[in-house]
Amino acid sequence: MPTIMKFGGTSVADANALENVAQIVASRVPSVPAVVVSAMSGVTDALLNSTVIASGARCDDAISSLNKTFERYLATAEQILSRDAASAYAKYVNSAQDQIAYFLKLIDSQLAQFQAVQDAVLAFGETLSSLLLASLLNERGVPAIQLDARECIITDDNHSAASPLMSETTEATRSRVLSILDTGTVPVLGGFIGSNLKGQTTTLGRGGSDYTAAILGAALSAREIQIWTDVTGVLTADPRVVPQAQTVERLSYGEAAELAYFGAKVLHPKTIQPAIEDCIPVRICNSRAPEETGTLVCAQTETTPRTVKAIAHKTGVTTVQITSARMLGAYGFLRALFEVFETHRTVVDVVTTSEVSVSLSLDDASSLPAIVADLEHLGTVRVEKGRAIICVVGEGLQGTPGIAARVFSTISDINVTLISQGASSINFTFAIEEEKVKEAVTRLHEAFFEEKAAGISA
Ligand code: ADP
Ligand code: ASP
Ligand code: MG
Repeated sequence: MPTIMKFGGTSVADANALENVAQIVASRVPSVPAVVVSAMSGVTDALLNSTVIASGARCDDAISSLNKTFERYLATAEQILSRDAASAYAKYVNSAQDQIAYFLKLIDSQLAQFQAVQDAVLAFGETLSSLLLASLLNERGVPAIQLDARECIITDDNHSAASPLMSETTEATRSRVLSILDTGTVPVLGGFIGSNLKGQTTTLGRGGSDYTAAILGAALSAREIQIWTDVTGVLTADPRVVPQAQTVERLSYGEAAELAYFGAKVLHPKTIQPAIEDCIPVRICNSRAPEETGTLVCAQTETTPRTVKAIAHKTGVTTVQITSARMLGAYGFLRALFEVFETHRTVVDVVTTSEVSVSLSLDDASSLPAIVADLEHLGTVRVEKGRAIICVVGEGLQGTPGIAARVFSTISDINVTLISQGASSINFTFAIEEEKVKEAVTRLHEAFFEEKAAGISA
């Protein structure tokens, strides 16, 4: 049974980070690693930006905007690889550069195919990293080979947010990966990318390398899916807002899924989904501190004395309220309402209802004008942009009196809307004004994790 080891962008950001990763993999060869790797940090942004420049008919600028990116890969290869291996890698980088230039030129003439060409360009971040890491592992005495993830992850046609076709993916993955593992070689795949049934490159959405790891884990019935990143596991809050946030040692699948969905960037929101079916444990580890245990996510649910295990938040949320007397005692109203969101392929996150109104939140407001126009046939619509969602998570939340009271008293001077307690009883979610989110999360973290009164060990 293999272990999937996924290393994120900061874990492969430079020569030191890559050497670290090679050591981590080398020391875990007995656990049969299959490695997934992201683009170096910042590279996907740079590639994405080049496609945007190219779409404005500035192809030369688009191509030259990537010079630093290629130099970074080449300089890193020179630092960590032998001369022969570095020159073989340089050839690959040069050919990638030519292919990217070809795609960027195509963008202007084929704007209708923009997303397909964009995905083809984005894929180079991950393929460049996977080849570099595979070469490095070989040089450090670990037999390894780059495997193009597009031969394994077979997806639908939904460019930039593709979903795997699981039976095709399982078959392709098993035949490619198992034959490599059988020879005692470590396969190194780029995360985030796949291909559709026509063989075109697709991507799984930003941050999607975690999802790749989980898909491969499910396809291979892995013993564990390890997400190696730049923090020690899932923390009690986003460390960029709460620097003193602590590692949560264990989470249930449900808790981890809620946290990921509501903004804990450390896990892509879809990562847990493939793991659940086969009960594959997901471990989140720190590539800068590999000896630390990190967080283990598994099927087991456990309540802790504090009940609350972590607080997640996400900004850039829009809330929509639809008010209509037609709702009163009528059936079919909610169906009609949600059909509007389905038509516009827009995901609704949190929903609350009263007798005459429905409030909901959206992450993606790109189709908002069309959605509002359709909703206006059903009632009066009020839209509020610039909102944030805060999600307090812990098994047993519903059965523990006083949690909601504590949340509200801690932030009593902040206006809270869209209050929802998930049916799974593990989350308590609400919306506030975006500008207040840092203050609110900091105060909630203090109340639940730092105050002496909260001083029961986690
Ligand atoms: P990678 O490049 O390894 O995929 P990401 O940047 O996607 O890493 O995710 C790790 C980052 O997630 C952390 O550096 C941290 O800033 C952020 N993060 C947000 N919320 C949390 C949380 N609750 N626990 C841990 N990290 C979090
Ligand atoms: N490189 C991709 C991104 O930046 C995928 C990932 O890092 O998970 O979104
Ligand atoms: Mg990530």
